[in-house]
Amino acid sequence: MKPGPAELVREEILALKAYHVPSAAGMIKLDAMENPYRLPEALREEVGRVVAGLAINRYPDPAAPALKARLRATFAIPAEAGLLIGNGSDEIIAIIAQTLARPGAAMLAPEPSFAMYRMNALFTRMRFVGVPLNADFSLDLGRFLDAIAAHRPALTFIAYPNNPTGNLFPAEAVERIIEAAPGVVVLDEAYHAFARKTFMPRLGEFANLVVMRTVSKLGLAGVRLGYAAAAPGWIDQFDKVRPPYNVSSLAQAVAERVLAHVGALDRQAEAIKSERSALFDGLRDLRGVEAFASEANFILVRVPDADAVHARLLARGILVRNFNGSHPLLAQCLRLTVGTPGENQLLLDALTEAL
Ligand code: PMP
Repeated sequence: MKPGPAELVREEILALKAYHVPSAAGMIKLDAMENPYRLPEALREEVGRVVAGLAINRYPDPAAPALKARLRATFAIPAEAGLLIGNGSDEIIAIIAQTLARPGAAMLAPEPSFAMYRMNALFTRMRFVGVPLNADFSLDLGRFLDAIAAHRPALTFIAYPNNPTGNLFPAEAVERIIEAAPGVVVLDEAYHAFARKTFMPRLGEFANLVVMRTVSKLGLAGVRLGYAAAAPGWIDQFDKVRPPYNVSSLAQAVAERVLAHVGALDRQAEAIKSERSALFDGLRDLRGVEAFASEANFILVRVPDADAVHARLLARGILVRNFNGSHPLLAQCLRLTVGTPGENQLLLDALTEAL
């Protein structure tokens, strides 16, 4: 008998539960921070023409000049900064971790935060240090700075705003962390379209800062495109780790075309923001629901029995994310992505009934 997975697979991997993406067929999908709106019809047609013209018998251009120029112009990436593109920012997290995972190197992040930071520490054998947030999800800056001094992290991740809590840590605190950190600090601005707070124009001030973003929440989750800007010295190293054809010709061309009309996506983001306020007010009126203020396109809530409420919403065809059991600070918490006005009303109605 040859050895099987139980003998050959790394113990830490065997112990993992696979990332479970529930089937969303026919469901109201409020679990993954997607933009609920499709592209305007004319733009969809333009995208169709662009795709039809692609030579997909050829590999994509790994330098992606048209896409990179479009990203720089659209998102005001400083000319002096280097630019890395990834198959989603998920891949950029992996690339940066792989690049910095010297034996014994530590990765630091607040907790709870985006789960892929910790996962990539595990994949790359970095030592993960999670620094607990306060019970109200605010950043304990003193504790974070102490952890930096104690662990000297090669890599620190800060989601700005944070997922799944939705709050934005104060810029002064982030600045203190970047200055105190002996290694690279990745500021993950995945929800920039909604928070509109950024360190992008300040890249030149901090030699160890990487500003990372994604087009997923802006309305292009299916395209799979993330980008990171930093001093060229860092980007050159990350680029060696990046698989050469990681962003397909389709993703490059579609993102380039859609971002030429970024105003359409920005208007959708504005609509989502005003829906967020309406949903937040609706949640506040529900007895038994504690809603946490959010700068992103989702709202974290605490309910008396998250597992039961999650199951009842599912039964009503509404998919949200249950964080109960994932971290002590997230006990009885559900994360609700802001949907269309109609979807949000159905969510509020279903919640009222579930409670
Ligand atoms: N960072 C944060 C904070 C996120 O919430 C997400 C998506 N949930 C990502 C990165 C990854 O996004 P993507 O891979 O779609 O770019």
